[in-house]
Amino acid sequence: MITVFSGGVGASRFLQGLVHAVDPATVTVISNTGDDVEMFGLHVSPDTDIVIYALAGAVNPETGWGLAGDTFAVVDQLQRFGYPRWFNLGDRDLAMAMHRTRLLREGVPMHEVVAGLARDWGLACRILPMANEPVRTKVFGPAGEIDFQEYMVRLRTEVEVRSIAFEGADTAQPAPGVIEAIRDSECVILAPSNPFVSIGPVLAVPGVRAALERTRAVRAAISPIIAGQVVKGPAAKMLQSLGHEVSAVGVARVYRGLIDLMVIDEQDRALVPQIEALGIRCYVTDTMMTSLERKTDLAAEVVREARRGR
Ligand code: GDP
Repeated sequence: MITVFSGGVGASRFLQGLVHAVDPATVTVISNTGDDVEMFGLHVSPDTDIVIYALAGAVNPETGWGLAGDTFAVVDQLQRFGYPRWFNLGDRDLAMAMHRTRLLREGVPMHEVVAGLARDWGLACRILPMANEPVRTKVFGPAGEIDFQEYMVRLRTEVEVRSIAFEGADTAQPAPGVIEAIRDSECVILAPSNPFVSIGPVLAVPGVRAALERTRAVRAAISPIIAGQVVKGPAAKMLQSLGHEVSAVGVARVYRGLIDLMVIDEQDRALVPQIEALGIRCYVTDTMMTSLERKTDLAAEVVREARRGR
């Protein structure tokens, strides 16, 4: 079994390759639900849905989130009733949110809801939410606390993040299967995701970090930072404002003690000695996931290198 800690866009692109590189039935995804939000009275799980849509081949290829070809008539219409328009939930995307919300209201636990959605979309891999209880990522800027989606979507990440908290994490428990997946996998991969707000919430669920520290699996991470920059999103800004070096080395330091192998981009080859000085083996390749072929090759290389370390 191969287990992947996953955020949204970066992770889903890697996962598209992984399910081509290995038998998808051997893949378990642990999905970040810290981004989840109540919108228009519906429970929306942005990261989980990005992963499902991407693996189903239905994701909007331009944005990396939402459904290809979706329209926005409902959110447009909701403005009439005073709802905010900054959160882009497509008309077909809303169907998923309605179905999820109804099941949760009926008392179905989140892990069963997600398993059902993955089945409905015909996925062969297993997707687990990190926890069944709500965990909500909050960022703190100069003016105080901000809900994660407000920060990400409404404020377009244009706030200096001074700290991050995961509300509810203290009392959450890993969803059924999460600890076993970490313990029993041959490798655990931290996807090329934001270390603070995509992987961070998963690690904040009690017991997850300890399971990752203790597992006999080879633990690998792919740097979301290439040549000191993100492909997209606020990870570089966060590294900087939270006092870390903005590079693959900065990411490796955040993951120190949790990974055995770090996969970095060819453009960062000069950083190998600094990462290996942290006691982390380094593998250098082209990590820019520009095509399905490149995603598949990258995933195959990560798994091959992890197996070499067993
Ligand atoms: P989000 O929750 O939708 O923001 O997505 P993630 O946290 O999973 O992914 C965001 C991270 O993925 C960003 O820091 C990007 O730099 C990184 N990323 C996106 N595409 C690529 C890629 O092709 N290669 C690498 N190495 N990183 C990528």
